[in-house]
Amino acid sequence: AQGEEDVYGNWQRRAAPILALMVVLALAFVTLAIMLSVQLRRRLLAESELQLLARVDGLTGLNNRLMLGEILEREWRNARRARRALSLLFVDIDHFKAYNDTYGHQAGDNALLEVARCISANLRLPNDSAARYGGEEFLIVLPDTPASEAAEVAERIRTAIANLDIEHAGSEFGRVTASIGFATWNPDQDTNDETDAAKVIKAADDALYHAKAAGRNKVLPGEAATAN
Ligand code: GH3
Ligand code: MG
Ligand code: MG
Repeated sequence: AQGEEDVYGNWQRRAAPILALMVVLALAFVTLAIMLSVQLRRRLLAESELQLLARVDGLTGLNNRLMLGEILEREWRNARRARRALSLLFVDIDHFKAYNDTYGHQAGDNALLEVARCISANLRLPNDSAARYGGEEFLIVLPDTPASEAAEVAERIRTAIANLDIEHAGSEFGRVTASIGFATWNPDQDTNDETDAAKVIKAADDALYHAKAAGRNKVLPGEAATAN
């Protein structure tokens, strides 16, 4: 009778390289799968970083205009649905061109950053949000906030900015200050639901203009931001 080795010997000799090849292929497959998953994770991370960068102002770290648009849209929708007041604050640094001219743009950038930090520190988390509207102007969105409360927040921010005590020889106050205009959308005064967010922004902007004309370093309310 043939021994077991004689029966299987031939088969084993042929199977061995096939088995080795399969092991190599399996290892290669696992390695490729791991590499792919690492690359995918890196890509997801880069994408979320990009998404964040696209929404944050590079100098101040506040929301940028793109993000502000999204915040406004969301809060405006929420305010109308829940029929809750919504206030907007326009903050503009006083005589900032003169500040740059006197102390240089680098110092100007530092002052902007300090003011931005000061604004953030005086918001009521987690609902309020601040954005750099452009240059030395900031827009603050205060959901569920009637005019009386918006005035308090604005006054707190104005005082805090002045209390940073950043020297500004070109200002009548001798330090960096800001003017603030605010406006409130009040559901009770907008029974026809005809106002849009742009009207509230315009009302806050007009109030800011009046605050500047009234001598700066002031908080002024806008006209009731309702339709017409
Ligand atoms: P007002 O009190 O009426 O607001 O006067 P102002 O000088 O602040 O206003 P104006 O609009 O004449 O000037 C704004 C200045 O803000 C001009 C510009 O050089 C400065 N500015 C805008 N963005 C930046 C920035 O990113 N960095 C620096 N350093 N300065 C900036
Ligand atoms: Mg300005
Ligand atoms: Mg200014």
